[in-house]
Order: sequence, then structure tokens, then C-alpha cells
Amino acid sequence: MVDLKGQYEQIKEQVNTSILNVIESTAFINGPEVHAFQAELEAYLAVKHVIPCANGTDALQIAMMGLGLKPGDEVITADFTFAATVEVIALLQLTPVLVDVDPVNFNIDIEAIKNAITPRTKAIVPVHLFGLAANMDAIMELAAEHNLYVIEDNAQGIGATYTSKNGVKTKTGAIGHVGSTSFFPSKNLGCYGDGGAIFTNDDDLAHTIRGIVNHGMYKRYHHDVVGVNSRLDSIQATVLRAKLPHLDTYNSKRKEAARKYSKAFSENKNIITPTGVCNSGNTICDTCDCHVFHQYTLVVKNTDRDGLVQHLQAHDIPCGVYYPIPLHAQKAYKDARYNEADFTVTNQLVQECISLPMHTELDDEQIAFITGKVLEFVG
Ligand SMILES: *Cc1c(COP(=O)(O)O)cnc(C)c1O
Repeated sequence: MVDLKGQYEQIKEQVNTSILNVIESTAFINGPEVHAFQAELEAYLAVKHVIPCANGTDALQIAMMGLGLKPGDEVITADFTFAATVEVIALLQLTPVLVDVDPVNFNIDIEAIKNAITPRTKAIVPVHLFGLAANMDAIMELAAEHNLYVIEDNAQGIGATYTSKNGVKTKTGAIGHVGSTSFFPSKNLGCYGDGGAIFTNDDDLAHTIRGIVNHGMYKRYHHDVVGVNSRLDSIQATVLRAKLPHLDTYNSKRKEAARKYSKAFSENKNIITPTGVCNSGNTICDTCDCHVFHQYTLVVKNTDRDGLVQHLQAHDIPCGVYYPIPLHAQKAYKDARYNEADFTVTNQLVQECISLPMHTELDDEQIAFITGKVLEFVG
């Protein structure tokens, strides 16, 4: 699915040298590499504050802690996403409210959010799923109208640019009140272990969060709030510093591969390609840069999707089903309040979606082989 080795080969000398330098310096935690990476990512995203942390799941949890959300507060998020999003809501004893997604872009459905808002709703967590920006204009409008926080789960979308109705371009993760990302190795900006970060333009919130990630300390050995221990280490930071200048190139390569895949499938009416539209018809991603293709995900109609997975695997083509089970149907997150009729899109997507290999090292020959095998099966 990913070719981390090929990508490493291209930056090998720099990465090896900088990792050795960290070891020589012994500044393993909170060292200068972490501070430098923080500043470089702030500049790249044009966001005032980046707070590095241990992983993308922590980032979401800490963002919610920073906003002071309390047990019983309702947090609306998408039914079709990785479980981390709903997991931290539940862990903090907030009430997860899962809603359906849009059939065209697979991101949280705006009408579904509207229907789910109650007097107890405190936050919306849009996920920029598969690297495509959610409809942030509509989400920010709803949030302003109902006095809600917006926490962007940008684990899959780092580097995407969202163009709002008024033409302003903003990197995803820097649009809501707070954003989070993951540097898990296979993410678009991945380190060589675990890592994550929280983003915000709010000075007070950034201050609060900096204490939370460090045991609730704002002054050494003074613990003002209940915090956690969540750090990005210097070795990961130095890897990320080597990769960040290449992020736009990495994302362009992904987009290029996606374009080639979609071209090969364009004549097949059983295959729906992720042209994706981020603003319900306003903007096509090809022209607005709102899709960084963390995954290239097809919807296959009139096809035995699991048979297709087996067919591809039989030809040594890795593929993935993200995600096979809707969150509302997972044992841990089942809730009597949920009504199947409210999840028609997710329920169908989980049966028809399939993600093809997507990374920065895909060449034309591989793409031709993969698309050939898909078309052979889908017919
Ligand atoms: C990867 C991912 C996370 C969690 O990131 P980790 O670093 O693995 O904890 C959260 N949300 C989404 C949507 C993800 O894809």
C-alpha cells in the first residue's frame, strides 16, 4: 500500500546524518530539533501554534481536553472514519454523536450535522477523510450559529489547501478552532515511529494545551490541571524536518498517481472514482488542491467487492478496505439512539469501497498493472 523504503532512499543521507546528530547531542526529548520542526510546520501551515505530541490519537484527545469539554457534552463526528476519532470522545466521557457522510466526497454530511445538533452539542469533529477537505465553510457557519467548537481531524489531510467561498485559501487543520494530525509512518507526512501535533491560532488555547501535554504543568512541578504525557521525540522531529520540505512534492506525486488511476477507470460505469467535490458542488478538487490523496478509494457497483480484494491480492497487489464496518455498528460504540435509516450512505460505502496502493513512488508500469487487474475483475 505504501513504499516507505523508496521514499527513504531519496533522503537517506540527510536523515541518517540528522538522526546521528540527535544521538550525539543526547537531546532526545524536547530538544532543538523538536522546536525547529514546530516552527517550520507553523510556517508551512500558516498557523500560529503547533504543539507536537506523541501521536494523532493523543492530539485529538488533548485538543478536546484543551477546549474544556465536560462529560455529557455531545460531540458530532462522522460514522465513516478511523475509530480514533470516536474513541477519544468516548474516553473523555463525552457523548459521541455519529452521523452519516456525503455520498460524493465521503466526508461528514452537513444536513446530518444539522439534524444532530441539540442544546448539549459542544463540538463538531470533521475528518478530512482520505485527504479530501471536508466542507469547512458550511461547518464553520453551523458552528458559529450554534456556538460550537470545530476540531479538525487532519490526520489524513496534511498539506491540503481549502478554498473558502470568499476565495481565502487555508491549509486544512488551521481552519477550525483547533486541528490535529498524525505522523504515523504511512501518513502523508510520516515519521519513523509515532508522532502527532495539535494546531491552533488561539493563543490562550495553545497555552492551555502546552501545559496539558506536559502533565498539566505551566510552572515546573506545579500541576494546575490534569494533563497527560505526550511528546514528539527529537529523532522523529529530525525525520519530519527532513521530509517537510518535500511534502508538497509528495502530495503532487500522489495527486498525479490518482489522476492516472482515474483516467484508466473513466470508461467503466461500475467504478466510481474519487473525483471528489469538497464543497458540495462549488469546487472540483483538481483545481483547488483540496485533496492530497492519503488514500485512493474507489466505489465499485455491481461487483463482489471482497472478491475484488482477493483477486488483487492473488496478483500481489496490496489493497485495503477503509473502513469495513461503520463506527455506529462497532461493539464499543453501539448506542440505542442510533437508527439504521440515518446511516444509508456509510452502510453502503462499507460494502463497496476499496483503496488501491497510494504513495509517492508509484510508476506508470505499476499503475497500468493495478488498473488492468481491477478492470479485469470489475468488467
Ligand atoms: C491515523 C489516524 C488517526 C490516529 O493517528 P495515530 O497517530 O495513529 O494515533 C486519527 N484519525 C484519523 C482519521 C487517522 O487516519
